Amino acid sequence: MKELTCIVCPRGCALRVDEVTFQVTGNSCSRGVEYGAREVRDPQRTLTTTVILEEAVRKRLPVKTDRTIQKSMMAACAAATNGIVATAPIKVGDIIIENLLGTGANLIAGCDMPKRKS
Ligand code: SF4
Repeated sequence: MKELTCIVCPRGCALRVDEVTFQVTGNSCSRGVEYGAREVRDPQRTLTTTVILEEAVRKRLPVKTDRTIQKSMMAACAAATNGIVATAPIKVGDIIIENLLGTGANLIAGCDMPKRKS
């Protein structure tokens, strides 16, 4: 039995998940069942990081995946962003890396970044 806190809403229900049947108890709503079962069966996270930025006032661009990826892939995906260079101007949601390491998730810009005036 795995114990975890549901993070879907601020109530933070204490969940207990059977690691064989994925049956969830301790939830106050159905979203807790979905979260608890997925967290034990196939935990997923959104990757957030920064990449090098050129021709802008700032030197780093905040980026994130446009969908969650398997938790076991987080370190490899983060490493794959090392050395990636984005060039301004950039709009929020622009794809920086498509299909990051075959996960099906795109790495996208987290904000607008105008071109630096020279
Ligand atoms: S189980 Fe439902 S009520 Fe409880 S923390 Fe999760 S989402 Fe919120």
